[in-house]
Amino acid sequence: MCKPVLFAILAVIAWSAVPAPAQAPASPKPLATREMNLLCWQEIGELVPARISTVLVPFGSLEPHGVIPNGTDNLAPEAMARAIAERVDALIAPTLNYGMTASMKAFPGAVSIPEDAYAPFAEAVLRNLADQGFRNIIVLNGHGGNTAVLNAVSVRVANAAKIRILVVNWWTLADDITKAVFKQNGGHAGNNETAYIQAFLPQHIHPERYKPEMASPNAPAGAYMAAPVTSSIGLYEKGQGYPTFDPAQAKEYFQRVNDRVAELVIETIKKWDLAGVYVK
Ligand SMILES: [Zn+2]
Repeated sequence: MCKPVLFAILAVIAWSAVPAPAQAPASPKPLATREMNLLCWQEIGELVPARISTVLVPFGSLEPHGVIPNGTDNLAPEAMARAIAERVDALIAPTLNYGMTASMKAFPGAVSIPEDAYAPFAEAVLRNLADQGFRNIIVLNGHGGNTAVLNAVSVRVANAAKIRILVVNWWTLADDITKAVFKQNGGHAGNNETAYIQAFLPQHIHPERYKPEMASPNAPAGAYMAAPVTSSIGLYEKGQGYPTFDPAQAKEYFQRVNDRVAELVIETIKKWDLAGVYVK
C-alpha cells in the first residue's frame, strides 16, 4: 500500500471515530390546525391520546351585550382557545353556541335553552370527549348563566369517565386584571367584556349606539329581581364598569386575560399529575 493511500485510510478512520455532534431531539411537527372542526378523523386518531391529551371546549350563549355582538359569550372563549391552544398543547372542540339565558330572552336575537335540555346535552359533549381519549377537558365558559350546570355535569363526567375537568369563568378569574387595566370593577358587556371582544373584532363594536344610561348596576343579592332584565350592560358595582372603547386597553386586557387562563390550565394539569388523580 503506497503511503498516500494508507494516509487516506487512516484519515477516514480517524474522522469516523469523531462522535457526531449531539442532535436536538426531533420536536413534533407543529399542527396545521388545532380545531376539531377542521381536522379529519384520521388526524385526530393519530393525535389523541398518543400525542395530545387536553381539549379546550368553549361554552357560550346568544344574548344581548350592550353594543357588542350577541355572540360575545361564544366569541370570547373561542378567541381565548385559539390564543392559548399551542401554549397548553390542546385541541379545540367546537363551541356550544347556545346556553341558558332565560332572563334575557326578551331581547332581539336571544335564544335560551331550558336546563332540562342543556344539562344532558353539555354532559354528553363532555362524556364523548372523555371517551375519545382526552384526559384533561378544559371548559372555557363564556356565560355566567351556564356556570352552575357546567360545574355539576363536569364533576359527574370526571368521576364517571375517570378524567380531569377544569371549568373556567374567565371574567371572574380576571377580576384583578380588570381592576388593574380599567382602575375599576367590570360588568356584563361592560368595560371588560367589551375590551376583550374589541381586541379582535373592532369592526363589530358600536360605540355610536352606546349611551351610559343603557347600563344598570346588578341587583345586590336578594334585593330585587326584574324579568326580563332591564339592561344588557350589568355593572358588577354601581358607578363602575362602563365600556371605555379604548383600543390600547383592549389589546392589553386581551393579552393579560389569555395569559392568566393559560397559566391556570398549565398549573392545574401539573397539580392533577402531582396528586396522581386519574393519571392514565
Ligand atoms: Zn357575556
